Amino acid sequence: MAKLTFPGGIHPYDGKDLSKDKPITEILPKGDLVYPLSQHIGAPATPIVQKGDRVLTGQKIAEAGGFVSAPIYATVSGTVKAIEPRRIVTGDSVMSIIVENDGQYEEVEYAPADLDALSKEEIIGRIKEAGVVGMGGAGFPTHVKLSPKEPEKIEYVIANCAECEPYLTSDYRRMIENPELLVQGLQCILKLFDNARGILAVEDNKPDAIEALKKAASGVDRIEVKALKTKYPQGAERQLIYAVTGREINSSMLPADAGCVVDNVDTIVSINQAVREGKPLMHRIVTVTGDAIADPRNFIVRIGTNYSELIEEAGGFKQDPVKVVSGGPMMGFSLFGLDVPTTKTSSALLCMTHDEVSDHEPSACINCGRCVEACPERLLPSKLADFAEHGDMDKFKAYEGMECVECGSCSYVCPAKRQLTQEIKSMRKTELANRKKK
Ligand code: SF4
Ligand code: SF4
Repeated sequence: MAKLTFPGGIHPYDGKDLSKDKPITEILPKGDLVYPLSQHIGAPATPIVQKGDRVLTGQKIAEAGGFVSAPIYATVSGTVKAIEPRRIVTGDSVMSIIVENDGQYEEVEYAPADLDALSKEEIIGRIKEAGVVGMGGAGFPTHVKLSPKEPEKIEYVIANCAECEPYLTSDYRRMIENPELLVQGLQCILKLFDNARGILAVEDNKPDAIEALKKAASGVDRIEVKALKTKYPQGAERQLIYAVTGREINSSMLPADAGCVVDNVDTIVSINQAVREGKPLMHRIVTVTGDAIADPRNFIVRIGTNYSELIEEAGGFKQDPVKVVSGGPMMGFSLFGLDVPTTKTSSALLCMTHDEVSDHEPSACINCGRCVEACPERLLPSKLADFAEHGDMDKFKAYEGMECVECGSCSYVCPAKRQLTQEIKSMRKTELANRKKK
């Protein structure tokens, strides 16, 4: 695959060659499964099982805690061992249901349906009941996203097939292995929006994925494939909407304000499964990669599986990792340990023998302007980080700090290795928390 390009013309190593040719393989969990009740944006789910209960694969174990929330399902059969706080990838301790796997994978019966026979309300209901959330990282409940105030104003349903983060290849594998599932999922969403076209938006460094999707979408009404320039962060929602439609949105707008709905690859496949097969969200594809991994792979993983098992399935470490990240190198979370569960939003596990950031001590800004060139939002990252360091929220907001999409480009290109994104991110977090309190 080609190198990535930042808006400023900088080319980071994209790392995708490590795993892009590894077909998706299913792995079965060996240890206990851990289901955090907060693995989505919104209210935590509420447990509907108790310690000692036997559960089946596909059985609901936690109910949505409100409209902006999502239920959680057991992904194996077994016994509820405990309901207690467990560590997740962010380092937070979150109340979780722990299920001891009996290795039988005894499953509930699902209720398939014919898409043509379903009403819009029934489609949304099936997606909500299946616990589908944005699997690209955000975890926003999908039924909420698919219920804009004015559905007739939605003109574009965009399948986010950009996968612009370095190292990640799970969407790529899905596109070349099961393009028909993406097209079928997009058809389910399009049934909700009578005036919309479905666009499968793929970066042009994946010509075989573009080819496969074009073939699968050939002759399908209202669906087309659009090749996008390979440019980090092309898959960020705002950048994607702009690339596909030429419309701009800011932090105070929703994609629906620009007539768009955007969903990522795994989410669309899960929507298809929920609507047509009546199956809840139980699996996701995880890329396990990095130069510390013996055999980088793309796995289909049961949600709740411990991260350490994913490493083991990928042949373990060939060299001790200096940095382990959940997600991609630009936007993922650095991990302190591997004893955390795979959740609905776990896209990758990246293990690196070098950490470019901690290899170098941050030094003073040399005013080179590289961060400004690299910023897709045309912000002044160096100034924003200064304001963040001094806790100057007024100036931070005046310089549009809230428009940052936390893409990590500024930190990546900074020769002084300033922790620009981290500073800006923490300031944004503070402001968002202040807004919630009001
Ligand atoms: S300021 Fe935000 S949007 Fe701009 S490059 Fe840095 S992280 Fe990305
Ligand atoms: S890239 Fe780093 S050194 Fe260059 S202007 Fe930005 S903060 Fe300063």
